[in-house]
Amino acid sequence: MKEFNIIERFFTGQSQPRHDVIVGVGDDCAITTVPANQALATTTDTLVSGVHFLADTAPSDIAHKAMAVNLSDLAAVGAIPAWISLALSLEDTDEDWLDEFSDTIARLCEYYSVNLIGGDTTRGPLSITITAQGFVPPGSIATRSGAQPGDLLYVTGSLGDAGAGLDILLNKLDITALTDISSEEQTAISQYLVERHHRPTPRVLSGTSLRRIISSCIDLSDGLRGDIQHIMRASSCGAIINVDALPISSQLSAAVSVEQAISYALSAGDDYELCFTLPQDNTTEFELAMHASNVSYTCIGQMTGGDQLELRLHDKPYQPTNLLTAAFEHQFGADPAHTS
Ligand code: ADP
Ligand code: MG
Repeated sequence: MKEFNIIERFFTGQSQPRHDVIVGVGDDCAITTVPANQALATTTDTLVSGVHFLADTAPSDIAHKAMAVNLSDLAAVGAIPAWISLALSLEDTDEDWLDEFSDTIARLCEYYSVNLIGGDTTRGPLSITITAQGFVPPGSIATRSGAQPGDLLYVTGSLGDAGAGLDILLNKLDITALTDISSEEQTAISQYLVERHHRPTPRVLSGTSLRRIISSCIDLSDGLRGDIQHIMRASSCGAIINVDALPISSQLSAAVSVEQAISYALSAGDDYELCFTLPQDNTTEFELAMHASNVSYTCIGQMTGGDQLELRLHDKPYQPTNLLTAAFEHQFGADPAHTS
């Protein structure tokens, strides 16, 4: 199958066209319009086989992750997604693979009301690059640089699940060794953790509903302990994290010790939860926004006037043991160049 036929069959006319797309897939450029009074947010992330996902990962999982990591970046600045472009490098033309991959891309585009507006298709080692674009009012952009000493530090969802899921896939974590739970429970826990690794949920609605209230935001791709330092540096602040407050799912709690759960939550990557700072004056407004949401939010600490990150357990300094790599290097071979 030629490039043209692949594009025509798998990546054309996938979704309900948006009114702001004047020219979509099929011409030399995509042409779109940005609403008045909105700024355009643009982000790109590449997933390379064997580096960002295991080579035997299902095509629907790869598609899901490629979408999610990009939409998560839009969420982190408070942008509402509008369009994606897809640059695909394929080893061969496996129609079943392309069917499953493109179906998942189309389904997620539909779900988020996003249009696939263009891309590129080449032959080479399997890699997927998505560029995602969205809108954010210029006065409400959630950058990394607005945190102030005293602001409360929050995260969405639960942390560490994806790291444990990856360790299950790599046979470093054996859920079947848990003797105090049934094999059905073992299977359910294992499936949950692996799913959190393959299919992170981009916190798009959290990003847009919080952007006016919060002072800074980042999405957690490399692990809380490393990623919080981006906010600290950009905002010239220190931070305290109360490790006893870290949101740990019941599944992760059941799978590993408390120490290991803290270690996953601090240092494993790929959670794609939002980490943000909240000025204390905005607490009431924040609680209203929280009630309107299905996502859980947890206060895990506070920004300080220094430049250090302090970890505390029950108000005493906490020295993490059994830590994974310092800031999670995307695992299958270190990938220091990856930022998102
Ligand atoms: P050109 O040679 O002008 O760059 P291409 O032959 O690469 O054009 O692509 C033809 C059209 O198909 C363009 O509109 C491009 O944006 C789109 N396209 C190519 N690959 C993909 C893809 N994987 N997903 C969506 N659109 C794609
Ligand atoms: Mg091209």
